[in-house]
Amino acid sequence: MAQNLTKYLHKNMDRQAGIDHIIHRTKIVATVGPACDTYDKLLGLVKAGVNVFRLNFSHGGHEDKSQIIEHIRNINKTQPYNISILGDLQGPKLRVGEIENNALPVVAGDILTFTNEKCVGTLERIYLSYPNLAGDVKIGNIILIDDGKIEVQVVNILRNGDVKVEVTLGGTLSSKKGINLPDTKISLPALTEKDLADLNFIIDQQLDWVALSFVRNVKDIVILRSKLEERRSKTKIIAKIEKPEAIANIRDIIVESDAIMIARGDLGVEMPVEKVPMIQKDIIRKCLHRAKPVIVATQMMESMIERVKPNRSEITDVANAVLEGADAVMLSGETATGNHPALVVETMRKIITEVEKEYRYNREEDLKPQPHSPSFLSDAICYNACKIARDVNADAVIGMTQTGYTAFMLSSYRPKAPLFIFSKERTLLNQLSLSWGVRAFYYAEEQSLDAIFEDQIHILKERGFINTGDTVINTGSTPIQLHLPTNVLKITNVD
Ligand code: PGA
Ligand code: MN
Repeated sequence: MAQNLTKYLHKNMDRQAGIDHIIHRTKIVATVGPACDTYDKLLGLVKAGVNVFRLNFSHGGHEDKSQIIEHIRNINKTQPYNISILGDLQGPKLRVGEIENNALPVVAGDILTFTNEKCVGTLERIYLSYPNLAGDVKIGNIILIDDGKIEVQVVNILRNGDVKVEVTLGGTLSSKKGINLPDTKISLPALTEKDLADLNFIIDQQLDWVALSFVRNVKDIVILRSKLEERRSKTKIIAKIEKPEAIANIRDIIVESDAIMIARGDLGVEMPVEKVPMIQKDIIRKCLHRAKPVIVATQMMESMIERVKPNRSEITDVANAVLEGADAVMLSGETATGNHPALVVETMRKIITEVEKEYRYNREEDLKPQPHSPSFLSDAICYNACKIARDVNADAVIGMTQTGYTAFMLSSYRPKAPLFIFSKERTLLNQLSLSWGVRAFYYAEEQSLDAIFEDQIHILKERGFINTGDTVINTGSTPIQLHLPTNVLKITNVD
């Protein structure tokens, strides 16, 4: 055993809080906003079950975000949690400009003109923040305004760059509403000027995850990754799937990204809504196969923005996302601007824990290691670690990682035994909070593998996660100094 393990034992930590916090294995992502942005409210949300906070860069400035980040980091310093922070970039989101009197009623058959010259919008002309609209759209393309509440179709493309459209679904248009172009190949860059500035902030602040909105293809992810690498950032990438183009390229996007978000809000505008449920199932399945964390997002508990109880259909939606195998479920307006942020989280956690009593754990038979994979041998260790854990009804699976890979891999098998991951990479501890069932611990000794396994068991025992008589499975790699991918599997009876 290492000489002095006290630095790993968190003397002042609230043991029970730490244990309670992993009872739900499907993680909860909560968006921060004015309804929950004080230290006490954020801590309340964490105690209710939040694992990851999302900062939405479509709203607010860097200053408020710095403050929120500081609060979350303080929670991590003083409480036994590894709460992760996710910066969500707006991406190439299009909007109309100011509208006269902030209300412009339009009816089917009206002809409107979109222009890229700034102006106050009227029935004559409406500004759209999209310089190459005329070059990208084709006659007949659909343009959706305000989450599809208003629908128009391109009827004419003028030489001066204006685009004439006919209203097919009327409504009242107001300022700054979002635009979706489901059947247009948009030539805007993946990262706008605003995104680049926000990304710099995210890198400076060393956030754990960065999400990119409106990903279209794998190139978008490659560009973001090169920006992160230029600055030697360890921030990991989440691709938000909310465009038909991304669905068409989903396999490559999953391979290139570190995690995926099924962004059902915009996806349900850009695709026929009835397609969203099967897309969700399919993406979750593909992510499980690649051991990439996957988040189901948007309108999960929407009615609780106002009310104290969710709709029955919302309860079932959360339950189904859990059963399908999502790593995490997300709250947006419910926690950012809703009336009962902590109650929503608590309610969501109750649904998750209840459903997890009947969960399909131990999925390794569906996810056999692939001989052509470059990580075939370490995958086989992870696979067998989880298989043995099931066979002996183990009380814990313990892994070690420096890149996160082993943790994501072990998690993807969804072991019934609690999953504990040790790493000396501090950024990983928080990043892994997004991954199903993972509870991560800092550990940096490198004496011998025997000593490491012994220490890890000792730390978990001291912190109340395992007990004498328990059976635990350890994975690691030897020789220690070479930091090879996972290549060892050990089974221990805890004394
Ligand atoms: P948003 O993304 O909340 O940033 O729009 C989620 C979604 O579109 O569902
Ligand atoms: Mn979106």
